[in-house]
Amino acid sequence: MFEQRKKVSIIVPFYNESEGIDYFYKALCPIFSQASELDFEVVCVDDGSRDDTLNKLILIAEKDSRFHVIELSRNFGKEAALTAGIDAATGDAVIPIDADLQDPPELIPEMINEWQKGAEVVLARRADRSSDSFLKRKTAELFYRFHNHLSSIQIPENVGDFRLIDRIVVDALKQLPEQHRFMKGLFSWVGFKTVTLDYVRNPRITGTTKFSGWKLWNFALEGITSFSATPLKYWTYIGVLGAASTFLYAIFIIVRTLIYGIDIPGYASLLVAVLFFGSLQLISVGLLGEYIGRIYMETKNRPLYLIRRHYGVKQ
Ligand code: UDP
Ligand code: MG
Repeated sequence: MFEQRKKVSIIVPFYNESEGIDYFYKALCPIFSQASELDFEVVCVDDGSRDDTLNKLILIAEKDSRFHVIELSRNFGKEAALTAGIDAATGDAVIPIDADLQDPPELIPEMINEWQKGAEVVLARRADRSSDSFLKRKTAELFYRFHNHLSSIQIPENVGDFRLIDRIVVDALKQLPEQHRFMKGLFSWVGFKTVTLDYVRNPRITGTTKFSGWKLWNFALEGITSFSATPLKYWTYIGVLGAASTFLYAIFIIVRTLIYGIDIPGYASLLVAVLFFGSLQLISVGLLGEYIGRIYMETKNRPLYLIRRHYGVKQ
């Protein structure tokens, strides 16, 4: 066989992860020596960190030529940081991984093994999420259920961004023009031959999560509105149901008035009906707003991220 050496790109988004970088570096290096038949590059994306994450990354890139650093001009969020890394990656396979070692690097050789056997996507499923809080696990479970019920694109449950994707999948992803990049959904949308591995999710080594409850809620909204228009359609049926029951109620009132005469009380039921339908309208207008807002942002066609500088890239 005269095959060229294959290269694997590891993409790591960093946002204020200064304390954890050395641990991360130490955990990753043994993986490279295990798979000596492959070349590796590590694309570190500094997502506008305000601590000395960037300086530490540059130091690593200076001493280890496998490491490159992309400095974004500000904090664009994890999805954009991942996109920046994937765009810059040159490997035959790409593995996005979190910087906090919650995604165990020890799984990388197994992923590579499946890839060499022919898989184009190797998913890493969190078999045990006991390191995440009860609330986070429950809300995540609810989200997957709700999303997969509404959308025709099924997101595999408990699979994060940690996965291996072949070059053909990377190229397919790059063809998707949308600005709102809900990566989990996009990864599922492109399809390809998929194998799933299980792993246990570790607690964070240092620092705290960068995703608050509010951020996660918006993330979930993003996922649902990006991959399903079903919530828009529900309102038609709810409206029809409301109109039908109001019509029946009207007939009932007319008949009652004809039989028993005019009846003064009735403010309560009137007020309830007005308030109820008023709030239904507000909810549906708000929902329309969610979609229209996204269409508005999409039409601006702004770049997903801006790069201030590259470090450690030869050429
Ligand atoms: N991250 C990022 N930009 C952000 C928020 C997070 O690049 O705006 C990175 C973060 O540094 C980490 C990964 O995304 O490498 C996952 O973040 P975190 O561990 O806070 O999320 P969780 O594991 O709690 O879902
Ligand atoms: Mg984490």
